[in-house]
Amino acid sequence: MIITKGYSANIAKAPLSPFTFERRNPKPNDVLIDIKYCGICHSDIHQARDEWGGSIFPMVPGHEIVGIVSAVGNSVTKYKIGDKVGVGCFVDSCRNCEACKSGLEQYCSEGMSGTYNSKERDGKTPTYGGYSDKIVVDENYVLRIPENLSLDATAPLLCAGITLYSPLAHWNAGPGKKVAIIGLGGLGHMGVKIAHAMGAEVTILSQSLAKSEDGKRLGADHFYATSDRKTFSKLSGYFDLIINTVSADIDWNSYLSLLKLNGTMVVVGVPEKQVPVGAFSLIGGRRSLAGSLIGGIKETQDMLDFCGKHNITSDIELIPIQKVNDAYERVIKSDVRYRFVIDMESLKN
Ligand code: NAP
Ligand code: ZN
Repeated sequence: MIITKGYSANIAKAPLSPFTFERRNPKPNDVLIDIKYCGICHSDIHQARDEWGGSIFPMVPGHEIVGIVSAVGNSVTKYKIGDKVGVGCFVDSCRNCEACKSGLEQYCSEGMSGTYNSKERDGKTPTYGGYSDKIVVDENYVLRIPENLSLDATAPLLCAGITLYSPLAHWNAGPGKKVAIIGLGGLGHMGVKIAHAMGAEVTILSQSLAKSEDGKRLGADHFYATSDRKTFSKLSGYFDLIINTVSADIDWNSYLSLLKLNGTMVVVGVPEKQVPVGAFSLIGGRRSLAGSLIGGIKETQDMLDFCGKHNITSDIELIPIQKVNDAYERVIKSDVRYRFVIDMESLKN
């Protein structure tokens, strides 16, 4: 077994604290990764605080993992020692269902094995995530990081990046399309950069105008405050595609009214409560309300290659792991520009 150091949540809502645990020795298809950096996703907070229910403790969160391959099993063909690699939100899936066979492992009919707060395929071994110094993952669930991207700022692409890339690609964001991103946080700021690089006209819908300078710098064409009711009359029927990244309860009906004929609003943010949607919000303009969950392995690699080509990484604030609990508080207050990334060197302190 491999002794691993990390940070864990031991019960819901308790602060994270140091935790030592074991990982399996690499099997023939496994790679052992020395974790260098791990992003802090709002999903880590939802799960560490058991806001979605069913959390498994102790929990080592973290699914925006980048590092260097330090050992490989003897059947591994895709990676070698020294390679820069990443691991996203899942580490395995059934590999046989229709979704898995079409590269959409995130929708595995038997349920993917999440990187943390989940179980390996044996249904009993808990998975532990990236707030730790090492991880062992089957090579088929490992991603290659483009050489030109800096490793720390690339970590958030493994969840925030793919979660926005996938719906933008699926609903054809590109030249001539008007795209809105609701919420300029970790996911939202990646959405702005990626949609802009795809050639779409990009509008940010944020709670206030406080981040408007940043929004333009990130690639947005327009920036509106949703606290101003005039925003909703001005932009009524304007967008082809709206991506909602908000982690809190908001009135989806008001946002649906901003879609043009045949427009789609895609929900990626996961509020704690259920949201009521009125039939009239949809039938008037033959509008669609859709959802999207991260992305499969092939699409995640496509996203990383796209970001390599367009030189896109995340805007990050690098922190030592000892500051993780403060970082959680700041994410909840929307006080992050735009992703916290943990420097795993700090685990040695
Ligand atoms: P984040 O960094 O906290 O960003 C969320 C943004 O939502 C905030 O920056 C803020 O933007 C806005 N917001 C927050 N509270 C709000 C409120 N009360 N009213 C209106 N807007 C509010 O979080 P994140 O890491 O990007 O994650 C966002 C959500 O996506 C989380 O629920 C997370 O669990 C979920 N998620 C889903 C997937 C998926 O596959 N579908 C993957 C990863 C994460 P402004 O300050 O600009 O208003
Ligand atoms: Zn995430």
